[in-house]
Amino acid sequence: MTQLIDGKALASSLMAKLKNSVAQQQRQITLAVVQVGDDPASTVYIRNKHKACEKVGIRSLHIHLEGDITSGSLLDTVHTLNSREDVDGILVQLPLPSGIDEGEVIRAIDPAKDVDGFHPINIGRMMLGEDCLLPCTPAGIIALLKSNGVDINGKECVVVGRSNIVGKPVAQLLLQAHGTVTQCHSRTRNLAEVCRRADILVAAVGVPRLINADFVKPGAVVIDVGIHRMADNTLCGDVDFDSVKDIVGAITPVPGGVGPMTIAMLMQNCVRAGHCGN
Ligand code: NDP
Repeated sequence: MTQLIDGKALASSLMAKLKNSVAQQQRQITLAVVQVGDDPASTVYIRNKHKACEKVGIRSLHIHLEGDITSGSLLDTVHTLNSREDVDGILVQLPLPSGIDEGEVIRAIDPAKDVDGFHPINIGRMMLGEDCLLPCTPAGIIALLKSNGVDINGKECVVVGRSNIVGKPVAQLLLQAHGTVTQCHSRTRNLAEVCRRADILVAAVGVPRLINADFVKPGAVVIDVGIHRMADNTLCGDVDFDSVKDIVGAITPVPGGVGPMTIAMLMQNCVRAGHCGN
């Protein structure tokens, strides 16, 4: 029987714990979310982040800037938020409009307030296995595996995708958990064959239903990071769920798998940043 890895349930129990922890705080924890322009997908993601903050008792500020803002003004906004003692976490919603250097903006965020975990200082600390604010989606994936009793130690782990926000950091965290990690990308030869080696397969590829029955070995644990809204308005992942579901041992659904965990980990990072007493 294939196990469904329920990210929604785990996220909800983590959020309940965070709510308790926030309630015991002497001071209000505050997250500032910076939106540049009106990208509809970003608007939805930001709304969900504000809702999550409300659930756990974190104050959320929405700083909405015009799409044609200059890099200089955006950096000024970030610097102001860095210096505000009442702001614990800062998140600049990506993608930014073309013409703005995302890397420069991420580097401008105080690493102690970098609740997305994208700042090079946090990424560097993660690489060294030091205490830091971890990127939310990769941290959520590891939490999902651990809480579902999946032992990573010594397992063949294949990550499809090498983005800075998902693929690379999740591969690093799997390595730290003593997995034997292979990282795939668009130049990987014989992708299906490589994926079939995986005891744990993470699909963070951004192509709807790319990973099908040819890519999985019987009993594998499959983590589907992708999320795509199709023409018929349904959601699907990077994995062809119906094609693999009777082969694999465990799999995350889309929706209800990795997505809710990303938000829960963001809330966890806000609480951690708040505890650090910025
Ligand atoms: P990116 O587009 O930044 O990266 C995709 C990666 O997949 C790249 O490394 C690319 O390789 C690789 N790739 C693309 N096509 C192929 C292919 N045909 N074969 C092998 N590798 C391929 O995506 P993200 O990492 O940002 O996101 C991945 C997915 O996860 C997306 O669907 C996104 O929507 C979703 N996502 C979901 C989140 C959640 O909370 N559920 C959070 C973040 C993302 P190369 O480097 O060579 O170009």
